[in-house]
Amino acid sequence: MKPLLAVRGLTCRFGDVVANDGIDFDVAPGEVHAVLGENGAGKSTLMKLIYGVYRPDAGEFLVDGVPTAIGSPAAARAAGIGMVFQDMRLVPALTVAENIALALPGCKVNKAEITAAAERYGLPVHPGALVRHLSIGERQRVEILKVLMSGARLLILDEPTSVLAPQEVDALFAAMRALRASGLSLVIITHKLNEARAIADRVTVLRGGRVVLRDADPAGLSDAELVEAMVGRAVPPLPQDRKSQETAAAVVELRGVHVAGDRGHAALRQVDLDLYPGELVGVAGVAGSGQRELCEVILGLRKAAAGTVRLAGKALHGQPRQAIAAGAVGVPEDPITDAVVPGLTVLEHLALAGAPRGRRRIGVDWRSAAAAADRRDATARLRMAPRHRVLGELSGGNIQRVVLTRALGEPAALVVAAYPSRGLDIATTRRTQELLIEQRDAGAAVLVVSEDLDELLSISDRIAVLHDGHLAGVVRPAETDRYAIGQLMVGGGWAA
Ligand code: ADP
Ligand code: MG
Repeated sequence: MKPLLAVRGLTCRFGDVVANDGIDFDVAPGEVHAVLGENGAGKSTLMKLIYGVYRPDAGEFLVDGVPTAIGSPAAARAAGIGMVFQDMRLVPALTVAENIALALPGCKVNKAEITAAAERYGLPVHPGALVRHLSIGERQRVEILKVLMSGARLLILDEPTSVLAPQEVDALFAAMRALRASGLSLVIITHKLNEARAIADRVTVLRGGRVVLRDADPAGLSDAELVEAMVGRAVPPLPQDRKSQETAAAVVELRGVHVAGDRGHAALRQVDLDLYPGELVGVAGVAGSGQRELCEVILGLRKAAAGTVRLAGKALHGQPRQAIAAGAVGVPEDPITDAVVPGLTVLEHLALAGAPRGRRRIGVDWRSAAAAADRRDATARLRMAPRHRVLGELSGGNIQRVVLTRALGEPAALVVAAYPSRGLDIATTRRTQELLIEQRDAGAAVLVVSEDLDELLSISDRIAVLHDGHLAGVVRPAETDRYAIGQLMVGGGWAA
């Protein structure tokens, strides 16, 4: 069958960076095609070229076999190509109908038409609702509907699942299947293998701006083969031995803990939780369910309003120094605000002992600080930026590598890591997960907050699920799945 879209020899440079290097890529009519690749592989660039946001330095497009110039998004839309961006582009103060009307200049859209289209495509929306009142999943449906109503035959979705809860991912995939059944072609960008397997008819893998695997049938490839294509080398699986160390004395004991959040609201309510040496406890929850406050109260960065927090058997009253003395380290949720001291170098940050927050006077012996930094770097192996670089001037991912090297490069008694792999590529994520497991195996109590349930299921001995500040449940990976956890996350109790 003739491809709906064929891309030939597409090249796009940004200064010295060749973001796309001679890319050939086809999309067949009525298929879901997944584009996989690590951060920086060139996926978004390829899609922006196809949608006319960027102009290629070389290469051509064929639509239905006919050479077609795509010099602007308007030209792409005229060729039947639509795109839903990673950051959604709706106007929050307008209604759903008004947003859709904005995207269809010259057309009169009424609410009945929107409702009819929404039903036809299985994308339920309320045309009269203000966009700012919608959840992320609902906003995404509006975006997709908007693109479909403008007549797209090819729908490009750039990492659509990164903002969704598991149940919302299922709903999105169901809508994508319905669209495919109606003859549409879809391109989905993701770096999650299970998603590519769940939805894609074919996959193309990009690495370093080039196509390394083209038009492959995902069913014919193992996870290891796909990861190797993405990363460029084999990535061994994580150790899968689960621990249960509840016989030893707990490192952390929370009893009836209440914590107020920054807005004075009850961020944690009546939380009872123990962390044992030699175990890794994952924390799942919808964003803002108390994860930040849980980490901070354990590290002594926040005081409990009620209840007791005990660390290594001693009551902790919001004293970070006591937590540090007990061997606690933290990876903050927002390293740029919580871990970066403006103007200081990578080495200076590594030498900073103490809480992940706040400025302190540095009186350090630089020779031993450099030796300690070497040790941590050699243990962590996270490909940290050069020591003399000013930390605040690095990209988010490189700042995270430094924060992780500092926290995980030496044995600790307690590790509290909030979203440790956020913004990292597969290889660095894997190394980070190994380091967390190494800390556990060396006897630390390890608490890991993540929004990625697959990550939590693959590294945790137990998973604590937060819902609206409550501990909705504590489950073991072998005895649960992402749906049951998703159910607890939204306050639904145990799944049937
Ligand atoms: P992906 O979506 O696979 O993560 P991108 O296409 O966003 O990758 O980026 C590919 C490469 O091109 C990266 O090295 C990135 O830094 C660079 N790049 C992307 N967009 C721009 C831009 N507008 N200006 C300069 N460099 C860019
Ligand atoms: Mg991208």
